[in-house]
Amino acid sequence: MNADESLGMGLKRPRRLRGCGLMRRMVQETRLCREDLIMPLFVCPGRGVRQEIPAMPGNFQMSVEVLVEECRQIADLGIPAVILFGIPPSKDPQGSSGYDPQGVVPQALRALKEAALDLLLIADVCLCEYTDHGHCGVLRGEEVDNDQTVALLVQASLVYAQAGADIIAPSDMMDGRVGQIRRGLDRQGWTHVPILAYAAKFASAFYGPFRQAAESAPRFGDRRGYQMDPPNVREALREIELDLEEGADIIMVKPALAYLDIIRAARDRYLVPLAAYNVSGEFAMVKAAAERGWIDEIRIRDEILLSIKRAGADLILTYFAKDVARGLP
Ligand SMILES: [Zn+2]
Repeated sequence: MNADESLGMGLKRPRRLRGCGLMRRMVQETRLCREDLIMPLFVCPGRGVRQEIPAMPGNFQMSVEVLVEECRQIADLGIPAVILFGIPPSKDPQGSSGYDPQGVVPQALRALKEAALDLLLIADVCLCEYTDHGHCGVLRGEEVDNDQTVALLVQASLVYAQAGADIIAPSDMMDGRVGQIRRGLDRQGWTHVPILAYAAKFASAFYGPFRQAAESAPRFGDRRGYQMDPPNVREALREIELDLEEGADIIMVKPALAYLDIIRAARDRYLVPLAAYNVSGEFAMVKAAAERGWIDEIRIRDEILLSIKRAGADLILTYFAKDVARGLP
């Protein structure tokens, strides 16, 4: 009796399609490609600065001219976009260097525009990198004042658009900011500049290493008064819906790995491009375990990024972007 007879003729054998690498490649449903990737970068004052961020190996705080060279390499790797975060020379309660036309991010945007790279420039818009208290907006008592903050975010968005940002990406989670930024941009003639809204951004411990990178940890309290509560799916969809009503062109879920269900729910419900932020903590965990020889970094990295894509993300903001692009055929 051969195997087919013992198990019954016509047995379904999915293993036929896993027999060799070529076959597996042919039937592969999800692929990572360089066009999916957005590289986050940190710009700081000074010249010749390239300071590695301790919990994010291979990522640096860079002064403007170093950043331009970095972006040249990123563009050469075929990555379509970078997102810029600023580390200002000084901070104050109003985060005023966040909307200063001479601030680090506008300087970087102008230098990058001048370099005319084949690269989209996304400007993250928030105040937490620029406020001395580390919260994402201006305070009234110990609370972030929503509407006063939104007015400043509009100002920052206009400064970034003027300096050459191709996409404006508000990450603060204030109510109504997408609509106000859209109106502000349109009034100044920036009708063609899209908004990538951090629509569902959760109050997450996965942001730890970033706060070290951007020197933006809150001095007191936490961000639960404006960022979302991790258990909530319906609330995430409502946040996304409001941002779309207000004019968001691309929506984002952040973090990615612990929120794949949110990414899937958003993909199933909305038609616009969907981004997911593979955040610093997700990156640092992989790096740290790999450094100890506990995991295979490249396989784990690719498995994580594929899971984010499979969940439904079109775009992935990731500190792995350069490494991944280098390894792609
Ligand atoms: Zn913030």
